Amino acid sequence: MRTHDNLFWFEAAAEGRLVVQRCTDCTTLRHPPAPTCPKCRSFEWDSVESNRQGTLHSWTVVHHPQDPAFTYPLLVGLVDLDTGTRLVADFEPTDHDLLAVGCPVEVYFAEHPRGEILSRLRLRRSETADAQQQGVS
Ligand code: ZN
Repeated sequence: MRTHDNLFWFEAAAEGRLVVQRCTDCTTLRHPPAPTCPKCRSFEWDSVESNRQGTLHSWTVVHHPQDPAFTYPLLVGLVDLDTGTRLVADFEPTDHDLLAVGCPVEVYFAEHPRGEILSRLRLRRSETADAQQQGVS
């Protein structure tokens, strides 16, 4: 749901940009967007462009409840972005046997079946291939 606090994020996503909310008093980054800073309680904030790369913190395979806009089972990941915040998003169709905590992932944007541009996750293929060649999973 779009609110006054998260509208900036959806507007940036529509432009293919990944942004993170930043407290303008103490510079703490936070996601998901919230009206106050969890560190200093300031209401003042702006947003900064975020790096799209990170590592997989956790993931799950969702079977229920089902939203008709998604294809199930739905693979959903929690990513530690290199900028220091976390992001939850669904994966592009991926064999979940390829996933492991700490594996390199990246955020990209794709059109949702309802017409919105939303963040999605995918494995960083070149680094995954390099790791597999070196025997690291
Ligand atoms: Zn703050």
